[in-house]
Formats: sequence, C-alpha cells, structure tokens
Amino acid sequence: MSTRLAVDLDGVLANFVYGFVKYVKSGVMVYSPYEKWVETGYEPRAWDFPEIINRELFKQAISTFHEQPLFWQSLPSYVANCNAMAEFLAQRPDVNVVYLTARPSPSKGPSALVQTNRWLRAQGLLGDAASVVVVMDWQSKVKIVEILAVDAVIDDHPLTIDRIRLKGACGADAKLLSRPWNRDANLPRCDSLKEWLDSIK
Ligand SMILES: [Mg+2]
Repeated sequence: MSTRLAVDLDGVLANFVYGFVKYVKSGVMVYSPYEKWVETGYEPRAWDFPEIINRELFKQAISTFHEQPLFWQSLPSYVANCNAMAEFLAQRPDVNVVYLTARPSPSKGPSALVQTNRWLRAQGLLGDAASVVVVMDWQSKVKIVEILAVDAVIDDHPLTIDRIRLKGACGADAKLLSRPWNRDANLPRCDSLKEWLDSIK
C-alpha cells in the first residue's frame, strides 16, 4: 500500500494568523499599539492571541470569523512550506497526501471544503495523489487518521499530535511543526515542513 500522509493546513501551509488578525482588526477589538502587525509578520505566542485581544473578545472572534465570505480561500500561504510541498508532490507520486483540516463553514456561500479545494488548486498543491478532508474539530482529525490508516502526520496543534501518538494503534508517526504558539509542548517536532517531508521514506 502507498505511504499515506496527513498534512494540516492552518499554521502549516496556510497563514491563518494573518486572516484572523485582519478580521479582529476589522472590528474595534484589537489592542493598540499593534498597528504594524503585517509589516512585523506578527505571530502569537499562544493560541488565544494574547498580544492583541483579551479572552472575552477572542472567544467572540473565534466563533464568528469564518462567517466572512471566502475567508478560507483568501488566506495567504506560508511560501517556503508550500514550495516544499509542491516539490514533494512532484518528486513522490508514490505517496498519497491527505490535507486534513478542521475548518468551520460559513452559513452562506461556498463551504470550507469548496474554499479549501480552491485554495489548494491555486497553490498548485492538488496533484493526482492528493485529497482534502475537512472536519469540524481536532478530535475528528484523530479519528480520520485512524480510519484512513495514515502513516505520518504533521500538525501545529499539540493536542492533536499528542492524541494521535497516544492512540498508537493506527501506527501513525505524528510530529508537531514548530511554531511560536506551540513552543512549550514536549512532543516530537520538526522545525520546517521540508525537514519533515525529507524524512518520509
Ligand atoms: Mg493547524
């Protein structure tokens, strides 16, 4: 059977931080003085964006951001990671890639699945052996890894990686992609997507 990989999107290939902060800034929610977040390439040091927003407003923003039309398909990419992914797809047609992402859909307009397919196509990342699975939450990701008998997983979310490793039964080798917001997690990790892809047998 072909090797199967599960690759997370937000925080790995897609710059969710940029889209989310843009949304937060479009309201009156953001703390000043974070005006120059684009120029500085702001990356939060924790999951709830503590530098720019308080917990209450974060809860509000995280439950509404996806209602913006075309939020998912408008996200910028992490260029180096997308380049590494495209190169891998070209060189390793023997490997099956599943883009495994937990994304809510807007109540109107194209679903998260449609937007995600469009985004990946625009990035040149939907090759012959690549497919997309959109789920509602990280717990569902763990189930999908088991159901699809995935061999290796990369994700920036510590709980996802931890649970996949704990389950163990499916044999998936799960690694954390290092990001500022997961630096405290004590889990096997890679510093770049290229490093991870180079390790795939
Ligand atoms: Mg992620």
